[in-house]
Amino acid sequence: MNKKQDFKSALNVMDGIEQPGQINADAVKKLKSKRPQALSTNEFVHDIRSGNRTILSKAITLIESSLHSHQHKAQEIINSCLPFSGKSIRIGITGVPGVGKSTFIEALGMYLTTQGHKVAVLAIDPSSTRSKGSILGDKTRMEELAVNPLAYIRPSPSAGSLGGVARKTRETIILCEAAGFDVILVETVGVGQSETTVRSMVDFFLLLMLAGAGDELQGIKRGIMEMADAIFINKADGDNVNKAKAARIEYKNALHLFPPAESGWNPVVDLCSAQSRMGIETVWTYIGNFTETTKSNGFFEQQRKQQFRQVLTETIDQALKRDYYGRKDIAQSLAHYEKEVLAGNLSPYTAASMLLEKHKP
Ligand code: GDP
Repeated sequence: MNKKQDFKSALNVMDGIEQPGQINADAVKKLKSKRPQALSTNEFVHDIRSGNRTILSKAITLIESSLHSHQHKAQEIINSCLPFSGKSIRIGITGVPGVGKSTFIEALGMYLTTQGHKVAVLAIDPSSTRSKGSILGDKTRMEELAVNPLAYIRPSPSAGSLGGVARKTRETIILCEAAGFDVILVETVGVGQSETTVRSMVDFFLLLMLAGAGDELQGIKRGIMEMADAIFINKADGDNVNKAKAARIEYKNALHLFPPAESGWNPVVDLCSAQSRMGIETVWTYIGNFTETTKSNGFFEQQRKQQFRQVLTETIDQALKRDYYGRKDIAQSLAHYEKEVLAGNLSPYTAASMLLEKHKP
């Protein structure tokens, strides 16, 4: 025995006495089998489909990883899960911070699980590093739902580009569906561009609003209202009920000004109180009616196909851009042409077409 080996054990071992192995070989096997890298794609898919949440979470972690080998494995898993996906209703929920999104999601999620649904909750929030603990990662949010065996809550991937976060969320939806979740709730903060992104991955888009919070439109842009299949005025409780009723009329009138929706569904405006759980059932009834209408007129499928098409072109766009701008020769030429443009010697259009001509993508 050399000195190094002596240090391996804290026990003083007498020569001549047979020692058991230091590590339990069975335990090693078991531990190894739990490492995501050690599972084959088939094992992953099998476990995800049988509803194993630990493995589902591990697969989502692979999706979120930037390591090439993880990405490769994640893509294999996603492709194998695709045939088992798509059978859920995907619902986007948005509204300004403080409107009551997480309280609402907890209420809706709890209601749905009592109806026998399996609910997955995902979030899109590229702006937040979650350091303030205000978004899904905070343990104080959705306390009941978080321990509900029929629900699965996955915090948003840590901050990144909106495109990156969106892609991860889209892929996560596929895995959750393959795991048997039949209602997917995607939360996004009602500021900036993330609503448009969430809209492009869900079937039904719900906007939560507040009544009497000063400006009736609360910085929610007209475009976001236009994307909504339902607007619910939350906190319609206590002293707030009359204000909420007045706001309902106002929003209904605002919606009348929009052109009829392609879906054949007329967006609805109603009241709820996530806190007292009033109106939660109504939301679900509307979603049921929406699904019925859009499945029978073909819009439901058409919208999903359109979303696939959009992902395909977006992915190609991003890859082309990354490759193009990543090339050294192009970076050099770009610097040169930029100078020419800024010096007033070339128009930006001419410079762009010269660059594109010189370095074909
Ligand atoms: P989020 O930032 O949109 O996720 O909003 P939260 O769900 O965290 O809610 C913000 C605050 O509003 C919390 O203090 C909630 O308790 C409160 N809240 C949420 N829903 C209601 C409601 O229906 N009525 C009342 N009165 N308060 C609510």
